[in-house]
Amino acid sequence: MSTNTQLLHGACHCGRVRFEVRTALAPASRCNCSLCRRKGALMTPPFAAAELAILSGEDALTLYQFNTRVAKHYFCKHCGIYPFHQTRKDPQLWRVNIGCLEGVDPYTLDAGLSDGASLSVVEDA
Ligand SMILES: [Zn+2]
Repeated sequence: MSTNTQLLHGACHCGRVRFEVRTALAPASRCNCSLCRRKGALMTPPFAAAELAILSGEDALTLYQFNTRVAKHYFCKHCGIYPFHQTRKDPQLWRVNIGCLEGVDPYTLDAGLSDGASLSVVEDA
């Protein structure tokens, strides 16, 4: 895991969900699983669950799970923005949607690909 971490603040679009996270931004990646493909979000590298603190709006978050139901995808039920998820590869690891972070422009970062599609146990996960 990268040691180049920084403390960042993030929020969903309507601002109900606010969080603080200590993570690196590189290597940032998009995921090719059926859900991420539809969202197109650029995600941080995985970080330990303890690095993420939800400051407000926990009650605005809705959990979406599919397929193996290991990964937990959270989104704001008011604005529909998806701020972070718990990974399928390792439930102790989380990733944040870089587009939700204050002062970070996701379009200036190199985007790798995380092969979520091949982690799925059924086709078209
Ligand atoms: Zn929201």
